[in-house]
Amino acid sequence: MITRKEKREEEKNKKYFFEFMKIQNHFYKDLNKKLKQVKDPRHQSYITYSPDVILMMVIIKNASNIETMREMTEEFNLDICIENLSKSLGIERLDEIPHYDTVNDFLSRLKPEELENIRTYMIKELINKKCFYDYRIDGKYWGIVIDGTGLFTFRKKHCEHCLKREYKNEETGEVKTIYMHHVLEAKLVVGDMVFSIASEFIENESEDVEKQDCERNAFYRMEKKLKNTFKRLPICIIADSLYACENVFQLCDKNKWKFLIRFKEGSIKSVMREFQSLKVLENSHSYEGISWVNDISYNQRTVHVLEFVEELEKDKRTFTYITNIKVGKKNAKRLINAGRSRWKIENEGFNNQKNIRYYIQHANSHDYNAMKNHYLLTQITDILVQLFENGSKIMKMTKKKAKKKASDLLRAFQTLTLTEEDLIKLEKPTQVRFT
Ligand SMILES: [Zn+2]
Repeated sequence: MITRKEKREEEKNKKYFFEFMKIQNHFYKDLNKKLKQVKDPRHQSYITYSPDVILMMVIIKNASNIETMREMTEEFNLDICIENLSKSLGIERLDEIPHYDTVNDFLSRLKPEELENIRTYMIKELINKKCFYDYRIDGKYWGIVIDGTGLFTFRKKHCEHCLKREYKNEETGEVKTIYMHHVLEAKLVVGDMVFSIASEFIENESEDVEKQDCERNAFYRMEKKLKNTFKRLPICIIADSLYACENVFQLCDKNKWKFLIRFKEGSIKSVMREFQSLKVLENSHSYEGISWVNDISYNQRTVHVLEFVEELEKDKRTFTYITNIKVGKKNAKRLINAGRSRWKIENEGFNNQKNIRYYIQHANSHDYNAMKNHYLLTQITDILVQLFENGSKIMKMTKKKAKKKASDLLRAFQTLTLTEEDLIKLEKPTQVRFT
């Protein structure tokens, strides 16, 4: 029999940081090199820390769920942390870890594209590994969920790119303006994991714009970047009813992308009418509670509509989607599941990143460029963390909550030094399986 005390002891010695590094090395042999090679905007003669030291430190801060930059400096200011950081990066000597002012100064000047490029490298490596092929929609298309969310809110003007919204106090009649920053995300859905593959900040070009930036405009910018970055990748855009419009259909046609978009009453009236009248007539087009009508003509193309009615205890919920993937018995259920996977980005994606870990609504810096870079580093971290928690053997077996997993990682980083033996093991290939 193992006593509880022994079990606690054993837990304490689990090498979570080593395991985290093993996953990083397994998927991203070149990540350290890429972190080091970002275009450094600083004056080279005053540099104490190379970019990889700064960036990796922030990645570990995010992964171990440290909320503020000040806390990071406090928690990491230990000999073991310094040694672990330098060993994991293959750096001979590191006397101290960089102070958070040094980190924020660097991030306020680093171009966000540098980090976007690193994320692109990470996503492409995953796609090339073929281990996620089974999750593709209709056996071919990578599901990419598009969704926006609010990040920062300020009572006073923060910068010239802030979005503004006025609120009227009904009782006093007083009008208040709040200043905000929002982001539009494109996330790749693979099973239970959602990986950020593009982030487009919703922001005004200048303070005196006539019309403020909005989610759909951000999508039009994002579409160009996605197409440029993933030129031949078969993509299926999954989005809410805001995107059920001609412009979006046209872009998908042009890019040879599939789309699967939530379709609501009033989205496109003619298509909805035709769907409603045909679905009752053609009983054959119904399977496992899903009904569909293919080939409804709309402008220059034909679209397909499918619907699933979920019976709840007291009422029911209807999920209707418009798509350019032909619906049949074979794929109806998977399409509905893929469409509903949009909630993942809201739940596991945004809620998780806001309330459970990372605290993306907390501005780590007041500088807008640094805020963007912090956000991108969080997305990079989140890819590593998800692969770690879903792929690493010791993590798959635990039923711990996210916060506990993060604090375990932090404790290992602070108390267990990577040994020479560990470093040799990190170089060797491992097997990673996702269930
Ligand atoms: Zn601002």
